[in-house]
Amino acid sequence: MSLRDYVSCYPTVDDMEVRREEMKLEVPRGSKAVVVKNLYLSCDTYMRLLRNRTADELLKPYTPGSPITGFGVSRSVDSGSPNFRVGDLVWGTTGWEEFSLITNPEGLEHTDVPLSYSLGILADNCCSVFLFGMPVMTSYVGFYKVCSAKKGEIVFVSAAAGAIGQNVGRFAKLTGCYVVGCAGSKEKVDLLKNTFGFDDAFNYKEERDLDAALKRCFPEGIDIYFNNVEGKMLEAVLLNMKVRHRIALCGMVSLYSSDSHERVINLMHAICKRVRIEGFAVYDHFAAYPKFLEFLLPHIREGKIVYIEDTAEGLDDGPSALFRLLNGGNVGKQLVVVARE
Ligand code: NDP
Repeated sequence: MSLRDYVSCYPTVDDMEVRREEMKLEVPRGSKAVVVKNLYLSCDTYMRLLRNRTADELLKPYTPGSPITGFGVSRSVDSGSPNFRVGDLVWGTTGWEEFSLITNPEGLEHTDVPLSYSLGILADNCCSVFLFGMPVMTSYVGFYKVCSAKKGEIVFVSAAAGAIGQNVGRFAKLTGCYVVGCAGSKEKVDLLKNTFGFDDAFNYKEERDLDAALKRCFPEGIDIYFNNVEGKMLEAVLLNMKVRHRIALCGMVSLYSSDSHERVINLMHAICKRVRIEGFAVYDHFAAYPKFLEFLLPHIREGKIVYIEDTAEGLDDGPSALFRLLNGGNVGKQLVVVARE
């Protein structure tokens, strides 16, 4: 699956195309490459940025006509690498195609967790420069390290039904916080309250006045805001923060289109309320990974962390899965299942 051409405006399904081409399922003689059969592919919001000709310096744009890349879980079908045998289950950066020739398998890791979990709940990409495929680690870093969340605090999360937001809610409840999330549909709001354990939730698309909605949910104000969207929501949050509290800037999904004109115009409130606003990137927090696993695994075993995925079946559905993610149609971690073995 590849990009037809660079995209500068709001992406559509037709920006992508799926082509059929033959490929050799053997590594070239003498090479250390690995040929993998791709099983699960991760859809991440950062992929929207890679469609622009001028992506960020960290994010190299896709080449139109060549398969796009992202995180994936795959099975090795031929290997010239001493580190990977035929049949090994691996995860790392791979192509959006049925089979990929991975010329630099140093970017692959073995995995033995339930297949699709490698892309979400347990993803560890110590070997990769792109760490955006690890939503739970991002939630953990943002909530505990950036916000230093404590028992009894009042937390607000935007894009709360998404891969990151749902886990911020979980962590908030495990810590003894009061947590409210917002999302873009009734189905998501129900999920937040009934499945992810949020104390309250609202559909931001149905609120004519976001400030009033926040005042209703947080009569005493907000201690911690976990920001995934930006724009109008952040403006409303600034009006409702308690004095000397904190905002983690995790993502700005509403700004990921170069034609977006959303801006925060009331930053003066951050000064008046002495709010600490901190942006963070999960890839700065490699060192926390073992601690993260130590914390997370018992909660998974005890069923205290529920992980919701939204799967599209087959590469032909890849363009619509990506579009759905950027359009708010996904519920939980968006994946494309290329093959179930
Ligand atoms: P999600 O699975 O939450 O998908 C994105 C969601 O954002 C959509 O489902 C939609 O939900 C919401 N959304 C989409 N467009 C808009 C819009 N214009 N305005 C408001 N909401 C919108 O994504 P993730 O949980 O994976 O990622 C959340 C954020 O975290 C993203 O901004 C991402 O880039 C960022 N991120 C940051 C990292 C870091 O290290 N700082 C690492 C990884 C991701 P709804 O229906 O509720 O509107």
